[in-house]
Amino acid sequence: MKNITKQKKKFLDVVKDLIRISDVVLEVLDARFVDETRNLEFEGEIKKQGKKLIYVLNKADLVDVKKKFSDMGDYVYVSAKNKEGIKELRAKIKELVKKIDIGEKKRAQVGIIGYPNTGKSTLINLLTGKESARVGAEAGFTKGMQKIRFSPGILILDTPGVIPESEYSHTRKESIQKQVKVGARTIDKIKEPEMVVLELMKDYAKKIQKFYKIKAEGRYDVLIEKLGRKKHFLKKGGVVDEDRTSRLVIKDWQTGRIKL
Ligand code: GDP
Repeated sequence: MKNITKQKKKFLDVVKDLIRISDVVLEVLDARFVDETRNLEFEGEIKKQGKKLIYVLNKADLVDVKKKFSDMGDYVYVSAKNKEGIKELRAKIKELVKKIDIGEKKRAQVGIIGYPNTGKSTLINLLTGKESARVGAEAGFTKGMQKIRFSPGILILDTPGVIPESEYSHTRKESIQKQVKVGARTIDKIKEPEMVVLELMKDYAKKIQKFYKIKAEGRYDVLIEKLGRKKHFLKKGGVVDEDRTSRLVIKDWQTGRIKL
């Protein structure tokens, strides 16, 4: 328990340190779940320290409608995967850097923070054109700090500040739902896939049913029963393999095949 507390503190300190050495901070959010992936505590910290904040609404390729937000200052929709919106983001970074006083420093520094799996590494690679920066398939991956030239007067700090999942949700149930929606947990680590799909069905039954072309009247059990049979995910005695069928739904969800 002591170790967990210590580790949590370390995570928070890493993010706070990153904010401290940044002039502009990019908070990478999942465009599908903007509210869920925002971290108000760190946004407060950015404000308190007088740093500039740009919200990067990534994975815009997975949303049909680009909602407008009146409560967020500077935000840009991007798809790091499809290299969309990057020009606009570059322009926004340059615009904000012009407005700030970087003191004695030669260059302004841009730090990147965000919830696991929102696409921070992919975005850093794209902004810096650096192939070597590893993109973590596993959630929550970080590596040693490097500064990479972005433009003559701007450096990108290539260690993303990974804000731990535990910082977003207060109850275990909330936490599981959120992690799965955003895809922060790799599928094989999910212990109760049935519960996760049950939660997804509460909010997105129509989309899920449409995707599989199954009529389930919004019911989890009906969906799993019919889908399991359709896919021949059966156990001994011809019973539907609920675990395997649920994991398929989570996978299709997390990879964005089931569109919002
Ligand atoms: P990080 O944990 O925030 O550094 O996220 P990664 O950069 O490792 O990306 C997590 C996953 O999201 C990877 O499977 C990426 O391929 C995927 N990803 C990143 N950006 C996008 C995007 O714009 N659209 C889609 N559909 N997937 C993306």
